[in-house]
Amino acid sequence: MRFGGLVALNDVTFSVKKGSVLAVIGPNGAGKSTLFNVVTGVYKPTAGRMTFDGADITSKPSYEVVRRGIARTFQSSRLFSDLSVLDNVIIGMHTRTKTGVLDALFRPGASRREMAACVEKAEALLQAGSGDLYEQRNRPAGTLAQADRRRLEIARALASQPKLILLDEPSVGMDDKETDALVADIKRLRSGHPELSVILIEHDMRVVGAFPEHVMCIDYGSRIAEGSFETVRANPRVQEAYLGK
Ligand code: ADP
Ligand code: MG
Repeated sequence: MRFGGLVALNDVTFSVKKGSVLAVIGPNGAGKSTLFNVVTGVYKPTAGRMTFDGADITSKPSYEVVRRGIARTFQSSRLFSDLSVLDNVIIGMHTRTKTGVLDALFRPGASRREMAACVEKAEALLQAGSGDLYEQRNRPAGTLAQADRRRLEIARALASQPKLILLDEPSVGMDDKETDALVADIKRLRSGHPELSVILIEHDMRVVGAFPEHVMCIDYGSRIAEGSFETVRANPRVQEAYLGK
């Protein structure tokens, strides 16, 4: 992925097994969020190829990527701050419902039964994670505390019933206790959905250490190490990338 003269990602090759977690680490500006943007169709890659679930998704538009089962959160929250917590989750579902949630929201007569089912599912998602999002479901999302905002982003991404979820620094703004709860949330999510795959961009090594099977380190747009957390952490190039900045 090039931006003018800047090569933001160069030859980054990887694969994620169904039902597994890949943790992506690397210094600030390494290209991690760009990777998510390329996968989810926000940016069209200059070169390269991506396949998901047997299909080529290279340069597919975002709505098409979501429809195929990839959902994401953003590094900086992209919630609808004036809408309620519950409505934010309901909006996350719209790719999976027949009439479309937006239709249901704005033309209530059109499919009341579907809307009721959506509300029920959204409430269940708010109850599933740590924190008390369910109790706060009628508040405007913009009034939530930082940790709750991160949790809501995840609930909203899950609302599209993804096969793969991309989490961009989900622990940012969380204290240690909230971070531990986030790890527990992800673990619980995985045991409830054994086929769900996760790619996690993370700065907090406590989180990475909780998902140590498959870690990839990016620096200056290139993959400099990949393997178990232990292997990657011991890699001299990884240590240099972190210490050198
Ligand atoms: P990370 O998430 O690893 O901190 P990013 O993927 O956000 O890093 O950024 C990688 C590099 O790509 C940075 O140098 C950043 O400035 C650049 N970049 C990201 N998006 C754009 C864009 N839309 N236009 C130009 N440069 C960009
Ligand atoms: Mg980033």
